[in-house]
Amino acid sequence: MRLSKMHLKTLREVPNEAEIPSHILLLRTGMIRKLVSGIYGFMPMGWKSVRKIEDIVREEMDRTGAQEIHMSAVQPAELWEESGRWSHYGPELWRIKDRNGRDFCLGPTHEEIFTDIVRNDISSYKQLPENLYQIQTKYRDEARPRFGLMRSREFVMKDAYSFDKDTEGLDKSYQDMYDAYTRIFTRCGLYFRPVEADNGAIGGSNSHEFQALTSVGESEIAYCEKCDMAATTERAGCVDAAPETDVEMLPLEKVHTPGTKTIEEVADFLGIPKEKTIKALLFVTYDDDYKENGYVAAFVRGDRDCNMTKLINALGIPEHQIEFADEEKMHQATGCVGGFTGPTALHDCRIVVDSELPGLKNMCAGACEEDHHLINVNYGRDYKGDIVTDIKTLKEGDPCPCCGAPVKHARGIEVGQVFKLGTKYSEAMHAMYVDENQKEQPIVMGCYGIGVTRTLAAIVEQHHDDDGIIWPISVAPYHVIIEEMKPGDEEQDKVTADMEEQLEKAGVEVLVDDRKERPGVKFKDADLIGIPIRITVGKKAPDGIVEYKLRREEEKRELSVEDAVAEAIALVNKERFGM
Ligand code: ATP
Ligand code: MG
Repeated sequence: MRLSKMHLKTLREVPNEAEIPSHILLLRTGMIRKLVSGIYGFMPMGWKSVRKIEDIVREEMDRTGAQEIHMSAVQPAELWEESGRWSHYGPELWRIKDRNGRDFCLGPTHEEIFTDIVRNDISSYKQLPENLYQIQTKYRDEARPRFGLMRSREFVMKDAYSFDKDTEGLDKSYQDMYDAYTRIFTRCGLYFRPVEADNGAIGGSNSHEFQALTSVGESEIAYCEKCDMAATTERAGCVDAAPETDVEMLPLEKVHTPGTKTIEEVADFLGIPKEKTIKALLFVTYDDDYKENGYVAAFVRGDRDCNMTKLINALGIPEHQIEFADEEKMHQATGCVGGFTGPTALHDCRIVVDSELPGLKNMCAGACEEDHHLINVNYGRDYKGDIVTDIKTLKEGDPCPCCGAPVKHARGIEVGQVFKLGTKYSEAMHAMYVDENQKEQPIVMGCYGIGVTRTLAAIVEQHHDDDGIIWPISVAPYHVIIEEMKPGDEEQDKVTADMEEQLEKAGVEVLVDDRKERPGVKFKDADLIGIPIRITVGKKAPDGIVEYKLRREEEKRELSVEDAVAEAIALVNKERFGM
């Protein structure tokens, strides 16, 4: 490919909204083009890299025996009503109507569609197991699209669905996908970590997210250096404080605590540690039609953070059906008092108590009265929870739930997720098979997603410097860029064309910079777009000498044309399937 012919427009100025390196660089290199918020097009080089990621995904999926199909992005509402998700999915679901007013959505994911196919086509245990996948465009009307391809409203996803007879079968399908994902992200050149992830209402340790580690990632991960524990902070279990079994309960007492609305203020005022206080968080919940349907008060120890994912799992509601409450309104209904709410005097409200509070004695909590707290508050005697479960977040330095060592935190980009669904969809949508004993059974399912375009952004996030992108060879739009210093010069043209031919014969993808620009401009662009191998054809071309440089290294070497070609072919062959 000749750069002079390529549809390429690099940018000198970066649009203001681009905050992180991958977004800035993908825009500056002209690889992606924004249409509207959260919606991007791909230009020639950007699309080439997307296709390389797709090829890696395809090869590794096929290797496991999964079969590729391709479904429409448009999905009828009826299937979503069967699974119950038409009302539960919330405003992220991009709903559309056809000319007759019939409801459809643009698929954010395809569980319903794949379950529908399998329930129609599979009836016997003899047809199982099966894994079907596609690489396809997904739509999610994200509340806050940002970071370019990272959180967009239209994106390319690989989604796979496994269908098994039983949970042992699912365990194997899941492990096969887990192993395939490990190979895929390794081949993409990502530094990543599989971590245990939240799996909503389904429960169990049945999901992993593959997190590309970078400081700009939107996911927070807790991990332990002493053992293997690694989980998203949404999911990570916490160690409860030891119950104070031999401490005597003291008489409940109301104290005047003027103006102490925060935990810090009341702890300071009373001269007690935050660990002796109870923190209240107040919420309102909504039904499927977005009508308010009740209040929730959640209580954790004063130094803890309430974990929203654990809380909504405990309540069994989707994320978009809960919000912080308007304290004035909630006061009328439940008797809470903003800044002074405790668990003892509330009414008409669901009380969720963190699992460690029942074991803690003589705590300080709000009295549900302006400027007053209660001390010596004890679970059982003074208050009870409608739900008592772990609703706190594992913080950096807290003991590891597996081995007790202090945990660390890191940030990551979720590039993929594997998930054991079990029979949730097969039961709701009646996807059954007949087993060896002629008995009807629900098919046991798993689902497995990879954000292909998000992976592209994650790769750039991990592979760049101040001058531009540094593509790993496996996903680079081209392997080699030949910088011809004086296009039109007979000798240089010949050396360039010969090298191009030899390299392409060996399967190496070559971009020739034959633009009549100053060398400085050409080198700057080459660094920006980040082609892994640069071969410069200049003054020494008549002697058969060229300059050889890797984008990831500083060193430049003068080599004979033959050696430069041989080195480039050897390197590409070594790394084209990943490092
Ligand atoms: P997130 O928590 O980031 O919103 P998710 O858990 O909802 O993602 P999944 O339903 O697991 O996403 O989708 C599978 C994969 O699709 C994710 O692992 C991620 O790589 C990708 N993905 C999800 N949402 C987006 C998005 N808005 N833009 C780009 N990629 C996305
Ligand atoms: Mg996910």
